[in-house]
Amino acid sequence: PTTKANHHISLEDRHGAHNYHPLPVVLSEGKGCYVWDVDGKQYFDFLSAYSAVNQGHCHPRIIDVMVKQSQKLTLTSRAFHNDQLGEYEKYLTEYFKFDKVLPMNTGAEGVETAIKICRKWGYEKKGIPTDQARIIVCGQNFHGRTTTIISFSSDPDAKGQFGPYTPGFESVPYGDVAAMRAALDNDPATIAGVLVEPIQGEAGVFVPEHGYLKAVAEACRENNVLFIADEIQTGIGRTGALLRVCGDCSCGGHCEQQETYVRPDILILGKALSGGAYPVSAVLADDAIMEVIQPGQHGSTFGGNPVACAVAQEALEVIRDEKLTQNARALGHIFRAEMQKLVDENPNLLTLVRGKGLLNALVINDSPESKTAWNFCLNLASKGLLAKPTHGNIIRFAPPLVINKEQLLEACSIIAEVVREM
Ligand code: PLP
Repeated sequence: PTTKANHHISLEDRHGAHNYHPLPVVLSEGKGCYVWDVDGKQYFDFLSAYSAVNQGHCHPRIIDVMVKQSQKLTLTSRAFHNDQLGEYEKYLTEYFKFDKVLPMNTGAEGVETAIKICRKWGYEKKGIPTDQARIIVCGQNFHGRTTTIISFSSDPDAKGQFGPYTPGFESVPYGDVAAMRAALDNDPATIAGVLVEPIQGEAGVFVPEHGYLKAVAEACRENNVLFIADEIQTGIGRTGALLRVCGDCSCGGHCEQQETYVRPDILILGKALSGGAYPVSAVLADDAIMEVIQPGQHGSTFGGNPVACAVAQEALEVIRDEKLTQNARALGHIFRAEMQKLVDENPNLLTLVRGKGLLNALVINDSPESKTAWNFCLNLASKGLLAKPTHGNIIRFAPPLVINKEQLLEACSIIAEVVREM
């Protein structure tokens, strides 16, 4: 890092909690699929803030709406109504075709909200005896960092020394229909829900076999258990479908008409719901489920604030107007084909490429404890492309969905150059 970059890094080091291990790059500007560091160096952003910036950095339409709304009214709390919330709720529920939405701010809050709704539904609608509700989750999941969520994490860093843990969760291996069915067969009368990431992003972009989600949803239905989809990372165009539960379909938002669509009982969205401009998350469900939440039982000071509502609505319009879902799908095929060539040519360095749309991962042929993936990312950064390893030897590549073919191919050639030099 340069002197200027070092200044910022050392300030963080001295004054901030060390809860992250960032690449030594200090960014100060972003536009579209590019970011610039404090010394003016340009990079492709191939992380997109963990898929929050699907619409590209500082999308002019989203920023314009955010600035205008910020100058008018930013926060009323839910003690009063505001003129943005209802419009947004109507728009969002029509967009994703659910009866109701409960607005929150961060992804983890969305997951917590879904868990609360699911448990309360279990007691009040399904008749589970008090305090006995169970929720089935998947191994290697990532749903956020709150105390309850890390209670069912299998990552020792995420979980260790933060107990005692919230009970009521059971984990089964991801992608394993038989294991899921076996868990659901064990005292189904006390199971309220199944919580699944349609692709496991943080775990390293694990794509379950075709038919997995449908089989899980069916098993849930048979046992009167709610199927909860955490689409915080996979949703909003990222995987080449509006939602990953839409399956391999590029209709861009009318997926319930497609036979691949697996409708969740509860859908959790975050990240790109605001295009990365503002923290916005949402939990969607139909009336029969959402009606279990009554005044005073859940909420948040900032949830559903006017800026969030205006920004999220515009962010979703941009996805539709600019056909970003379809772009992710088309460019995803090109990206994986380019990476597959590198894998074939360099089996000593690269194991495989996998993913859907523009959520992909390259697996480095080395142990998760090795420094190879980290060094790979440092070399990418020096050539102008930002990505970060997840779980040691896996590099996720997830550029903003506004990237075009020419830019994508240029990025692929940067990756190829680094592969050649490693
Ligand atoms: N769920 C999934 C699938 C995620 O990928 C993430 C974040 O990476 C979260 C939940 C948590 O979101 P947040 O960091 O906004 O709390």
